[in-house]
Amino acid sequence: MIRLQNFQQKMASLADAALISSAQNQFYLSEFHYDDGYLLIFVDAAYLLADFRYIEAAKKGAATGFTVLRPEKSMNGTVCELLKKHGAKDLLIEEDHITVGARERLETALSGVELVSGASKILTELRLCKDAREIAAIAAAQELTDAAFSHILNYLKRGVREIDVALELELFMRRNGAEGIAFDTIAVSGAQSALPHGVPRDRELENGFLTMDFGARFGGYCSDMTRTVVIGRADDEMKHLYQTVLKAQEAALAAARGGISCRALDRVARDIIENAGYRGCFGHSLGHGVGIDIHESPRLSPSAKQDATLCAGHVVTVEPGIYIEGKYGCRIEDMIAVNKDGSIRNFTKSTKELLEIV
Ligand code: ZN
Ligand code: ZN
Repeated sequence: MIRLQNFQQKMASLADAALISSAQNQFYLSEFHYDDGYLLIFVDAAYLLADFRYIEAAKKGAATGFTVLRPEKSMNGTVCELLKKHGAKDLLIEEDHITVGARERLETALSGVELVSGASKILTELRLCKDAREIAAIAAAQELTDAAFSHILNYLKRGVREIDVALELELFMRRNGAEGIAFDTIAVSGAQSALPHGVPRDRELENGFLTMDFGARFGGYCSDMTRTVVIGRADDEMKHLYQTVLKAQEAALAAARGGISCRALDRVARDIIENAGYRGCFGHSLGHGVGIDIHESPRLSPSAKQDATLCAGHVVTVEPGIYIEGKYGCRIEDMIAVNKDGSIRNFTKSTKELLEIV
């Protein structure tokens, strides 16, 4: 209810009504997960429009404040009737989600109602700061992810394929309560580990680094972690590279606090990597927000807005990496939240010691 009220407060100055069409924002506002239909929100009323498949569950599951309706004819026809009933002249839409086709169909169905961009912007800002229930869901998702890492350490041995490692991680998380995986699991070894988002192959683990990047979905929220281990023995160069990534990650975790600029935090890790001789080898940003989506605001990046800072309730990853083209790569990723007092909570408990699987 509080999420709905916050949204109504912000939309009031922009339009008479708002149409929420993305599954993620529908879930955020109504706490009911479905992927077909609309939320139609007025300053003093809110409707959840769902078809036959969802209607019974929606009546039980939707947050208070929503009237659940099953459109008798078309979704757009019902939206049109409700806009008329409430005397709405303009409609806020999700500019980052609605397709050109859907917008055109709405314009035809709702002639006379002006469509206004802005709902995505409001919801991105609202979703930045997680409440206690969201933090609890993220913590539970990460707990499953940490448990999967412990499990995989016992599973790893010579002869297993990258795809086996990825599937084993996923199965473990599902069997232990995850609703699903948060994103496609990465488990890449040998030269493939030089690709930050490499795809697991139908091929036995190669000697060298094995990077595993994976996460669970729990209570509608994602987790995200990366650990890199060594298949075989690490040589001095690999040890140096690993320790550099770890040093960069630990420095960024130590510097993270409420009020620090997102750009400055990225710089903390990037400076360590560049000064160790790996300039140009850390080609992605330090981290990203995590929530209902695996990639959310804020971004910890050299191109983050000058005035963007970490604030209480933000949940972000801290994931520096070094990638040597054609040779290997290594990344270490934890997920943290900023507490009310500005201190940091690290959700990720798994060891970061350099582990050799021999
Ligand atoms: Zn990740
Ligand atoms: Zn990540």
